[in-house]
Amino acid sequence: MSTPLLEVNDLKKHFPIRAGFLGGVTGHVYAVDGISFSIAKGETLSLVGESGCGKSTVGKAILRLFDITGGQVMLDGTRIDDMPAATLRPMRRRMQVVFQDPYSSLNPRMRVRDILAEPIRNFGLAKDSADLEKRVGDLMDRVRLPRDAVGRWPHEFSGGQRQRIGIARALAAEPDLIICDEAVSALDVSVKAQIVNLLQDLQKDLGLALLFISHDLAIVEHMTHRVAVMYLGKIVEVAPKRELFAAPKHPYTEALLSAVPVPEPGAQRERVILKGDVPSPINPPKGCRFHTRCPYAFDRCRQDEPALRQTEPGHWSACHLHDRPAAENPLAGAKGAALIAKH
Ligand code: SF4
Repeated sequence: MSTPLLEVNDLKKHFPIRAGFLGGVTGHVYAVDGISFSIAKGETLSLVGESGCGKSTVGKAILRLFDITGGQVMLDGTRIDDMPAATLRPMRRRMQVVFQDPYSSLNPRMRVRDILAEPIRNFGLAKDSADLEKRVGDLMDRVRLPRDAVGRWPHEFSGGQRQRIGIARALAAEPDLIICDEAVSALDVSVKAQIVNLLQDLQKDLGLALLFISHDLAIVEHMTHRVAVMYLGKIVEVAPKRELFAAPKHPYTEALLSAVPVPEPGAQRERVILKGDVPSPINPPKGCRFHTRCPYAFDRCRQDEPALRQTEPGHWSACHLHDRPAAENPLAGAKGAALIAKH
């Protein structure tokens, strides 16, 4: 088996809560609490979950925007989470990010040409100024913006166009992996679809891997290979898109999916309304973190934390229901089989 491009093992990020004049630590926010996943070269993995579940913290931890509390991050087989800054630099080039807000992620005092030239210069990718100019023009072509717009300022573009510039800036470093952190969430529906199509095309053309962080399952359905679902700092389910959408193996995924429209005319999912709010990551519930909202919770769920384990080839779920006989497991069986066939 080939080495994954990105491997995250038991990643933890606990933010200390400080109080008082001396700033003593009074507790922790358990933002990410022991998650593992991998992304193959050229693959898209979507990390989904409600706001505050820790998914954006995962992206920032991979990019080394802060130190992690525990675990490991490996890029192409090399551990990068404890790498000194000087050694990390070439690895950083291989991982780029596109943020949610195209308005604030571009420097308003730089013209597009300079925004795109900056990473090319920083990583020493251009042979000379003619090569630099050519690379900037090629990037504009790649994201389907006119070449002559390189002299304009960010405020002269629409939201979707600015996000194209953000994508071009990420591509300028010639990365292997792009982390898209809610990259289309702030856009109108039609613009969202255009940016998703662009990302898909770029992925095919350039063999990029994408970590697509989103709260919106309907969007990831159109572009991802696999989905990892996060709840309160933990991954609760990982599966290929088709299997996860057709036959979820975790009650939280089932609830999230119940709000996503089914493409087949006349078909619909039974809507699952979750009770209550997401508990605080400062004091997560004992046992299964989802038990305070789970419609199927039973005694064991309040005591034992379920491990993420394989229920079918390539399909992982963290739920005690899978230890029960199939007749007592509402997520077992072939209820999704018909949908898998159509999906
Ligand atoms: Fe629900 Fe229990 Fe499964 Fe958690 S372990 S998701 S509470 S059934």
